[in-house]
Amino acid sequence: ARLRSNSIDYTERETSNRPSDDLTGTGNDKFQWDPTSWHTKPIVQDVVYSSMKGVEKALQKLEALPPLVSPYEINNLQEKLRDAALGKAFVLQGGDCAELFDYCSQERIESKMKILLQMSLVLIWGTKLPLVRIGRIAGQFAKPRSKLTEEVNGQVIPSFRGDNINGFDVSERTPDPSRLVSAYFHSAATLNYIRSSLSSGFADLHRPFDWSLSHVQSSAVKARYRTVVDAITEGLSFMKTVGADKSSTLESIDFYTSHEGLMLEFEQSLTRKLQDPRNGERKWYNTSAHFLWIGDRTRQVNGAHVEYFRGIMNPVGVKVGPSMTTDELVSILDVLDSDYVVGKVTLITRYGIGNISQILPTHIEAVKRTNHKVVWISDPCHGNTKSSTSGLKTRDFEDIMNELALALQIHKDNDSQLNGVHLELTGDAVTECIGGSAQLTHEDLEVRYDTVCDPRLSESQSLDVAFLIADWCTQ
Ligand code: PEP
Ligand code: MN
Repeated sequence: ARLRSNSIDYTERETSNRPSDDLTGTGNDKFQWDPTSWHTKPIVQDVVYSSMKGVEKALQKLEALPPLVSPYEINNLQEKLRDAALGKAFVLQGGDCAELFDYCSQERIESKMKILLQMSLVLIWGTKLPLVRIGRIAGQFAKPRSKLTEEVNGQVIPSFRGDNINGFDVSERTPDPSRLVSAYFHSAATLNYIRSSLSSGFADLHRPFDWSLSHVQSSAVKARYRTVVDAITEGLSFMKTVGADKSSTLESIDFYTSHEGLMLEFEQSLTRKLQDPRNGERKWYNTSAHFLWIGDRTRQVNGAHVEYFRGIMNPVGVKVGPSMTTDELVSILDVLDSDYVVGKVTLITRYGIGNISQILPTHIEAVKRTNHKVVWISDPCHGNTKSSTSGLKTRDFEDIMNELALALQIHKDNDSQLNGVHLELTGDAVTECIGGSAQLTHEDLEVRYDTVCDPRLSESQSLDVAFLIADWCTQ
């Protein structure tokens, strides 16, 4: 059945941890899975619609629409993540906290691709490793919230849950199922523009100055970027001299899409049984994005999200926050990676600057004691969100840099390796995180605070992060 059974009380399901819900312990049967088997599991962050008719209609439409990405592409990403897990590639995953339908414009898509490409250059140069680029883009629409309501001008209204559920505008906060279909078309248009730009030379390594540092004020950062570009240009001209520049990988790159797999009705509708081109067997692929992750709020080992995720072929991520116990972590890996595929699971750690030193070593140890080989990525943003003096949500750039530096060091000290970074960023000159080479202060936040959810790194702060990693690797 497309919809969950009526015997489930949708209103009650809104509250997260009902005492009767067994959210711990594994009871997942490996051989009994289909895209709707999560319906029988307790769910958190659920969306309650006023009528299920509209939901049914939306899901029916989604089921009829073609896949957005293919098994071939998904398998390719899985192979690259295997390399990352083995320390032979580095992952850069980044983009908005909440992507809006309105971000589906030429300018916005280009600026996000541009910052990811600029960072890639710096990271390739620094890590000396092939880079795996994954955007939080073309579908990053659903948001988990710590509070389901908020007060606006003295009125209590539902919180914004992401453009595929309700609208940011206070008049649009009622969940609207037609937004699920809209999400598909905005993903498709975004993905189409990414694909056409890449196949037309947008990422050509011979033209890195085209990705100009339009919003970077600091002359020191500009000069460092120029050094990297000069080094790469020199390398390319040498390759031309010796006739080794014919590879098409210099003119284009692989770029993958990702989002939090939160809205399971949507994910279920885009999950298709398709032929695995490697062996012709038909398997379940989530065709809405190449990579999906489970948020820190929805990672209960016996909950609906883990149940959904365990059945798809896509490589998957799990956000790992400070409340994750080592036992839970191992149970989640046992469920999501029951076949022990190297790089199948990416652990995206987001502890916060005050927690990482204590927790990360225990998590590294716990995973080492298993036969799971994971990709370790640091998300230095989500554990470091705080309130600014004016009440805006912000992050201190120092905390972000320090958590990332600690992640690199702690992995090294524990005979492990950090395989990538996950960031909330934008290619624009926003003022949402304080600090960085632009030295933004609490007072500066008002200047261009554009985010509808979490504060993002600006173009210049993002490059600072890339240089931190590059410096650490070259020191
Ligand atoms: C996010 O990545 O936007 C997010 C909500 O993260 P987390 O689940 O780690 O809190
Ligand atoms: Mn976020």
